[in-house]
Formats: sequence, structure tokens, C-alpha cells
Amino acid sequence: MTIHKQTDVVIVGSGPGGATLARELARSKSGLGITLLERGRDWRAHPLYGTYPGTIFYSDKGYFLRSREGLTIIRPLMVGGATSMYCGCSAMPGSWWQEKYGIELEGIAEKTAAELNIAPLPPELRGKASTRIAEAAAELGMEWEPQAKFLQPNRSNDFDCDAKCMLGCRCGAKWNASEYVDQAVVEGCDLWTGARVDKVMHGGVKVYGVKGRIGRNNFVIEASTVVVSAGGIGTPMILQNSGLEEAGRGMTMDTTSMVYGHAPYRGTGDDPPMTWSYADDDLGAMFSTLIDPWLVYPIAMMS
Ligand SMILES: Cc1cc2nc3c(=O)[nH]c(=O)nc-3n(C[C@H](O)[C@H](O)[C@H](O)COP(=O)(O)OP(=O)(O)OC[C@H]3O[C@@H](n4cnc5c(N)ncnc54)[C@H](O)[C@@H]3O)c2cc1C
Repeated sequence: MTIHKQTDVVIVGSGPGGATLARELARSKSGLGITLLERGRDWRAHPLYGTYPGTIFYSDKGYFLRSREGLTIIRPLMVGGATSMYCGCSAMPGSWWQEKYGIELEGIAEKTAAELNIAPLPPELRGKASTRIAEAAAELGMEWEPQAKFLQPNRSNDFDCDAKCMLGCRCGAKWNASEYVDQAVVEGCDLWTGARVDKVMHGGVKVYGVKGRIGRNNFVIEASTVVVSAGGIGTPMILQNSGLEEAGRGMTMDTTSMVYGHAPYRGTGDDPPMTWSYADDDLGAMFSTLIDPWLVYPIAMMS
């Protein structure tokens, strides 16, 4: 069976990109029909959310997706996109955005930081082992800063984890783009979960909708505006499938290299991930502490 629908705007992907757009459009009261299509489901209330077994269900290829070159790629597929599993670190845009690309983000970034109360974790939540790394770096002349976070204990009535989560925040202390999805839905946005878009329908320069699958059915949604915000991997895949063969070529990836050491403190998992950081703009790299949550070390070693 094929499900047909007509609307004004289709947004593909409910990560921070798609969720923000859906919320802003829905709140604008423009009267436009908005449909948000998300390939994954909403895992927030599921007992496995935030656990290792859970990641097998909500990460692409069960956490074992590899690039052709052998790099491990973690690609969460669910409502809220990768913010459902991120470390909650926030970095203000550097001045090079403006200088190099002419993109002015400062005003927007400040507004967002104020709305989401972005701030470093309170000192009592910064772990002993990561604080020791920051102190050792300071002795070498690198002034590490407490990492600003999309996480505040007072966002949750149920905060008892000391901010140590990394596979998904179960208590709601960490901001997640699915909150914007909820707000968009309240404002009238039509959310389809489990809806995988395969192709943008177009006639050369003009788009007229998307095609995909939901459950056992196909769907065809006609719309004059289509926004593909399916993430750094999902977006080029859809565009290539739609005939834009060059989409994603030359894409750079934000790679993470982990350097391990041993600290004479309590066991792994007793420290929030990425509590301290140091940005080296000349090198184009950011250093951060990551005291392994339980099991990440063996998984990293197997990868
Ligand atoms: C483990 C991890 C930790 C991270 N930590 C941080 C951090 O601390 N701070 C930070 O700023 N950033 C962090 N990031 C990066 C950040 O989460 C991403 O940059 C951000 O989520 C990208 O937003 P997006 O909306 O472009 O895409 P995504 O968040 O990837 O969302 C894309 C959405 O599209 C959906 N989708 C994909 N294909 C289709 C399709 N064919 N049809 C329908 N839907 C589809 C996906 O299921 C997903 O929900 C982290 C990422 C990961 C994976």
C-alpha cells in the first residue's frame, strides 16, 4: 500500500537541525502545513534508553558502523537525532566562521545559550580524574576551561546520576532536540516516526515532495518545500539517491582520537564525560577529558 499526503513543508530528520526548523516554523503561525519525517522512533521513555543494549537498537548497525577506511562511526537514529546520545558539550562559534565564510552566528548563538541555560557543570560534579588532567595540562601551560554544557541538574526532578551518562540522558537534565520536536507537535507539526525517506522528488530545479517507507508501506508526500536535515551521513545519502551524485563529496568528518592512560582513582564511569576542554584554534582541534563510562574502553579497543 502507498500512503499519499499533501502539505506545504516537509522536513526530513528530527535532530537539532530539523527539530529547530520544525519548531520555528510551527510557532510562526504562518498557517503552513509542516510534516516532520523521522526514520527512528522516540526512545526517551523506553527502559533500554541510555543503556548499552539500547544503543544496539537506536544506533546505525548497532554501534558497529564503520567507514570504508575502518573508522568507527556512531550514528544515532531516533527522535532528537544525535542529541539523544551526545555528550552535551557546547562551544560558541569561533570568529573564523565570520572571517572565513562570512557566516554571522554570534547573536543566534547567544540567544540559544540564554534559552538553554548553557553553563559548565557545577564544580562538585566535575570528576577527580578529569580535573587532574586539566591541572596537569595547566602545568604545561595549557589553560583548560570547564566545558560549557547543555546540561543542568535543575532541569530534572530526578537527577541522581552525577551527569555521568553518555549513551542517552534518562533524567532529562541534558537538553535533547526531541524537546523541540515536542514543542513543534504541540504547535501543529505532523510528526511521523519510523518514516525513512529514500528520495526527494524533483523535476530538475524544482522539488515537489519526498518518497519513502513507513512500516510495511510506501509513502509519497507532495510539498513545494523540502528540507533535508538527515545528518552528515543521511543527507548526502538521500540526495545521491535523488540524482545529486556529487552530494557529500569532499565532506569532512569531525573525528575523535582517544588517548588512554590510567588514573589512580575510583573505577571507570565515575566521572562525567568531557568536563574540561581546551580549544587550539591554530591547530583546529579541541582537547577534552573523557573518563570512560563502563564498557566504552573494551568497545573502543575492539573497534
Ligand atoms: C556520540 C556523539 C556525541 C556527540 N557529542 C556532542 C557534543 O557534546 N556537543 C555537540 O555540540 N555535538 C555533539 N555531537 C554532534 C551533534 O550531536 C551533531 O552535530 C548534531 O546532532 C547534528 O544535527 P543534525 O540535525 O544535523 O543531524 P542528526 O542529529 O544526525 O539528526 C539527523 C536525523 O535524521 C534522521 N534520518 C537520517 N536519515 C533519515 C532518512 N532517510 N529519513 C528520515 N530520517 C532520517 C536520523 O534518524 C536523525 O534523527 C555528538 C554526536 C555523537 C554521535
